[in-house]
Amino acid sequence: ENSAESHVFEADVARLLHMMVHSVYSDKDVFLRELISNAADACEKLRYEAIATPALLASDPDSRIVLTLDEEGGRFVVEDNGIGMSRDEMIEALGTIARSGTRAFMERIEANKQGEGAQLIGQFGVGFYSCFMVADRVDVVSRRAGADNAWLWSSDGKGGYSVSPIDISEAPARGTRITLHLMEDAKSYTSRWSIERIVKEQSGHVPVPIKIAEKPGDEATQLTDGTALWTKSKNDITAEEYTDFYRSVSGQYDEPALTVHYRAEGRHEYSALAFVPGSQPFDLFDPDRKGRMKLYVKRVFITDEAELLPRYLRFVRGLVDTADLPLNVSREMIQESAILTAIRKGVTNRIITAIEKQAESDKDAFLKIWENFGSLLKEGIYEDFERRSQLLALSRFRTTASADGYRSLADYVKDAKEGQQSIYYLVGGSLDQLKASPQLEGFRARSIEVLLLTDSVDSFWVTNAPDFEGKSFKSITQGSADLAQFKKQDQDKPESESALAEVQAFLDYAKQKLADEVSDVRASDRLIESAVCLVASEQGYDRQLEKILQGAGR
Ligand code: ADP
Ligand code: MG
Repeated sequence: ENSAESHVFEADVARLLHMMVHSVYSDKDVFLRELISNAADACEKLRYEAIATPALLASDPDSRIVLTLDEEGGRFVVEDNGIGMSRDEMIEALGTIARSGTRAFMERIEANKQGEGAQLIGQFGVGFYSCFMVADRVDVVSRRAGADNAWLWSSDGKGGYSVSPIDISEAPARGTRITLHLMEDAKSYTSRWSIERIVKEQSGHVPVPIKIAEKPGDEATQLTDGTALWTKSKNDITAEEYTDFYRSVSGQYDEPALTVHYRAEGRHEYSALAFVPGSQPFDLFDPDRKGRMKLYVKRVFITDEAELLPRYLRFVRGLVDTADLPLNVSREMIQESAILTAIRKGVTNRIITAIEKQAESDKDAFLKIWENFGSLLKEGIYEDFERRSQLLALSRFRTTASADGYRSLADYVKDAKEGQQSIYYLVGGSLDQLKASPQLEGFRARSIEVLLLTDSVDSFWVTNAPDFEGKSFKSITQGSADLAQFKKQDQDKPESESALAEVQAFLDYAKQKLADEVSDVRASDRLIESAVCLVASEQGYDRQLEKILQGAGR
């Protein structure tokens, strides 16, 4: 203990701990899911490293997670024989919160102190720190596979932690032992009955067997057999089992909005289990965020960086397990693998088809998916050439005709005016701002529908979107509006000769006065009440895109 170094948590961590323990979080049982999923991850990492370095497994090849109850001592212990942590890894992994979404999460929580707090934290896996909801001291002893030293990390979860070397005789031969000194009101976590219930409920299909010992020194008996959920047949899996599994792979506590599970046979054989989350993960818009699909080969976890889905599906969580790749597949092989290219295509198709089906069979459920992830799906319109028409058809929009709901392009085309060649759109920062735009006046007066686009991705896809059912996309702030052919609702008389002459005289005057500021001055069908508006030229950028590019330093 003398040689223990003291460290301070990052400020964010201290706040998060305080909040979790003192207010918003009610379901304390989740600490167990977090610890078990970390232990299982550690076992999977070891299995992967052992493919290249079999000596790491030494004489103990089978992974396991052992829970030990200690009613007398008021303790609960989780031990795994996985990869373990070195001193530096402990400081790095347990002293900071790994998730990049933490800051965004903290900000939202701060902004909604009472309100949606509890619900928000449920969307966010709190990870290792959740054990401080039930323990007032946590000791982590770890010995990295292959290392000849072991370390003790210890904390009361209030502000700091200490790290000290520990004799290897006091550490697991390999892996990590986490001892929770339970709080007074958390002593029920030493009851076999409660632990068994919680484990089966939350972690029944973690792909590493879980054992339980009722007392320190007792022999451990098996609680779960480590059968991976995705290897079971769909018909044998209940909705609850899918939800529990989703929670353990996604780190979110909500219900999945969509579950896609299938086994592909034929040219390529693989199983895929993928979930569309029920709410937005907090790091969704983090530029560093990677996809979260795991690659397994014959049930051995290989990597979560195989890019098994296109970028615009990065909100999807899950895994692919294939027997078609060798276990010792390298990073380079993964990138170039034709097998993975085929699998990627297959999984992408299945996910998009499942979303399409949802759009037909359960409109409300689909709209929730769209609200959460529509702005990402729209990236696919310019990133995924093959599926861009499909993604356009799937897209939903606010329009001048949508009231509070959404419209599809099929709806738009069905209600288009006779002779209307274009799908008109207006891009801007917010719906309210767009609805107030004078540019819309001429379209409203002729009841021509205009898409109101407010996501920043909208400025990009519209510029190279393919035609939809023969109609091209056209910005109403660009070029001439060509509205003369459509009748206004309160049918007006043709303009008199003298009025037209007066307009022409004014245009000449304005053009001369503004010669240095604008390239042209025209009479327009766009406006009804407003006197003038600025429009972009037919060839250049749309005005909103111009603003975005200026902001990006172009
Ligand atoms: P996450 O699991 O999302 O990375 P956690 O807060 O649950 O976040 O865990 C933080 C990190 O601590 C893990 O990424 C891992 O590096 C390390 N860790 C936690 N538990 C273990 C364990 N049992 N064995 C090895 N490493 C662990
Ligand atoms: Mg974790």
